[in-house]
Amino acid sequence: MASIPPGTLKRCDLCRVEIRGMVGGNDQVVFSQGAPGTRAKLWARVCQFVKEPQRCINQEASLRGEVGVDDFYGEPPGLGPIGSASAGESLGGAPPA
Ligand SMILES: [Zn+2]
Repeated sequence: MASIPPGTLKRCDLCRVEIRGMVGGNDQVVFSQGAPGTRAKLWARVCQFVKEPQRCINQEASLRGEVGVDDFYGEPPGLGPIGSASAGESLGGAPPA
């Protein structure tokens, strides 16, 4: 699958987004809502889940580049509920008389 020529918009009917070809290969993905993103972000959020990847224009690992943690939905790592509450409760021992 060829990359998109700079200045050209290509639509992925499967993912419902448009990818704008950019000089240097850092293509810009125009999401239906929200700010434009990268191919990596599009892949992390949409393209990896499609049922017909052969119809998706964003399945080339070499084109999308490396997918970072910021490209996925959800909380950034390290802010999750790891060891938050409950630690003190189990150390209570016998209830006061
Ligand atoms: Zn796609």
